[in-house]
Amino acid sequence: MSRTLRTAQDLAEAGLISPDAVPGLEAVQVRYSVAVTPAMAALITQQGAPIARQYLPDAAELITAAHELDDPTADAPFTPIKGVVHRYPDRALLKPLLACPVYCRFCFRREAVGPDGGLLSEAELEAALDWFAATPAVREVILTGGDPLMLSPRRLGGILRRLDAMPHIETLRIHSRVPVADPALVTPALLAALATEKPLYLCVHANHATEFTPGASMVLRALHRVGVVLLGQSVLLAGVNDSEPAMEALFRAMLRHRVKPYYLHQLDPAPGTARFHVPEERGLELMRGLRGRVTGLAWPTYVQEQAEGAGKIPLGMAGMRGGAGQAREGR
Ligand code: SF4
Repeated sequence: MSRTLRTAQDLAEAGLISPDAVPGLEAVQVRYSVAVTPAMAALITQQGAPIARQYLPDAAELITAAHELDDPTADAPFTPIKGVVHRYPDRALLKPLLACPVYCRFCFRREAVGPDGGLLSEAELEAALDWFAATPAVREVILTGGDPLMLSPRRLGGILRRLDAMPHIETLRIHSRVPVADPALVTPALLAALATEKPLYLCVHANHATEFTPGASMVLRALHRVGVVLLGQSVLLAGVNDSEPAMEALFRAMLRHRVKPYYLHQLDPAPGTARFHVPEERGLELMRGLRGRVTGLAWPTYVQEQAEGAGKIPLGMAGMRGGAGQAREGR
């Protein structure tokens, strides 16, 4: 299979879902984008549920629970200019596009992301970069989206060069699913675009050890060789990684691929994602299970987004010492 699958019909023709399921999923694909890359289609065939659940649409996505929100991280009130989110004093997000290589069924931005969505025009991008140039308190720029590694190397390189040249910007960060979900996009031209003067951290989104395929392994090594610092971020997901063996295997796989586990996210309450929810107490239990047995290099910070855009809080430092109940600490 050589193309990304974008409809329920495509998925049925590829043998990833039953043809009988197609009519029931057509309403889902109208509401939430679908994309399964050749690499992930092959992995679903090999590994089954832990990968399939992340990418294959499900009729349950059309059921929105009472607590679920369209914009669970509440970016909108912190948007000074299109494409920028400024929530913390020393860092800000730049979202140059809203397209992704795959569309994760649990995505917290699922109401916004899609293949046609959110590419900043040249003028909008210029205005966003001008905002960064005029905001000296911001020392770190976090490129996210969507997935910034979906940009052409020329466009991404142009953005990075501009940010690299701003004296007050000290670090650059990109959040991406591309190295695991579509490693073929990491071309020599893209690697050249990522060779910045200032430190560049690439936060790789992966939720299951088997996502570190030989293709992913090759591009992670190549990224490391051009000086990119690799971090890992994962979401705690029912049926994907909510067991001690799965969690341990995931973080050990990251370390073997030069990726330092950075964040484990509690699921954000995006619409139609209830089937992925794992209670916080269970997450704390899993994290406690790693302590002592698994190298500290493999421990990410377990975090949750607070309501109304108040940012992330780490979960469970108190819970590590005692009961899982009173588990939160502010930062
Ligand atoms: S790659 Fe990231 S932004 Fe895109 S659908 Fe998946 S979780 Fe959402």
